[in-house]
Amino acid sequence: MAFRTRGYYVIPSRNQFWGPNEWRRYIDCTCEDGCNLLIFWIAGSFPSRRYPETWSYNLRHRNIEQNFYPSIIDYAHEKGLRVVLGFTPYAYDGVASFAATHPELAGRNADGSIHRTRGIHDVGMWLCPSHPESRQFMLDYVREMYFEFHPNADGLFIESSDYGHCQCSHCSEQYFGREWEFVNQISNEVWNAKPDATIIIYPVYYQLKLAVPDTRFTLFFTPHSAHITPDVLAVRCEKIYWEGLSFEKLDAAARGAKTAYEHGLDGYVAAMETFGYTQELNGRLVTYEPFDVPWTTADFPMEDLVPRVLRFAYKFYSWNPCATEQEFQNAVALQFFANSDTEAARDLIYLCSVLQESFQHFGRRSALAHPEDFEHQYPPEKRSQALTEYAEILSRLSAISKKYPSHELGRTARWIVERWRASHPRTFQ
Ligand SMILES: [Zn+2]
Repeated sequence: MAFRTRGYYVIPSRNQFWGPNEWRRYIDCTCEDGCNLLIFWIAGSFPSRRYPETWSYNLRHRNIEQNFYPSIIDYAHEKGLRVVLGFTPYAYDGVASFAATHPELAGRNADGSIHRTRGIHDVGMWLCPSHPESRQFMLDYVREMYFEFHPNADGLFIESSDYGHCQCSHCSEQYFGREWEFVNQISNEVWNAKPDATIIIYPVYYQLKLAVPDTRFTLFFTPHSAHITPDVLAVRCEKIYWEGLSFEKLDAAARGAKTAYEHGLDGYVAAMETFGYTQELNGRLVTYEPFDVPWTTADFPMEDLVPRVLRFAYKFYSWNPCATEQEFQNAVALQFFANSDTEAARDLIYLCSVLQESFQHFGRRSALAHPEDFEHQYPPEKRSQALTEYAEILSRLSAISKKYPSHELGRTARWIVERWRASHPRTFQ
């Protein structure tokens, strides 16, 4: 049994490096992985004419220079993918940058101070929707994004802010009412133009009884910010579950599928992020590369062994949500070793899991893949314990590198061990 809707969630706004060729390859991989939906989260990275402030932090973004997203959407359609455009009302990429240039409209912390934005992710500065100008901006920005720039998209993904909202005296009580006003208005405008448009929303408006359920909406659930509750489960509409696969341990693929299946949801979507940018971190410039596979010999990072395992895990569980761990190991053995050697499968899953565990996310890189980052990632008082843990991981990776000397698994393990041996020789004593 497969979920009817299968897809990836990706924020191209946070990948400044990729141009149209790389994005076409991303679409190819998405289709190879059995997906039929792409959540293409683009606010802050299309060259808005009306609000250039929204991309002022993203000047080096390839799409700001070339405006190629419309052609990517066409390409996805040729391959059978539905594409919805992602953004967040009153927060996050693009919107936060607008707020930074209009501090009189900015969202507030509970103590009245302005909530500050941080770096490329641009997640931290809110807009306060109690100002009519903020509400007008939000509508006009999304109108421009959809109707003027990407009318070929299949709809919208309206991500309710996961990390809080304006806490001013108006918003602390009425925030979601204001957000719903916006969601309702823009959705009706999109449906007037395209009656079968897919519009994905969070269940909060129903859960707070701010809106009467409309079955045209697709509901979206996440483990951290949009919980599945019986009241919204009863609404007869499409429902999708999300898992943050690209920054979680590998077993998240199974966990998300199981949750979606047990609640009878129609779809299962996983984050398959491609973060790529240069950012100042602890006083030095750090470059984050999509999928962060510095050892790779693949000509496209998503085709390196580690992302391939991640993608395979998603594909496997989106088709077999009830599969056991043993069945997954058998499938990995067949897929990556063309045999039934589940010991090799377990070694491969181990490598991917330890890399995933310390994967780059919101301003840090994996110190396992980048030993030069270790001292920046761990303050002095935490280094000793962290090094003990790394020594254990490196010892197992060293054994793996000897067991599979000519397989990509062994070569990747060896690359990591050698980097650590050169930079932290004492870890191996
Ligand atoms: Zn407010």
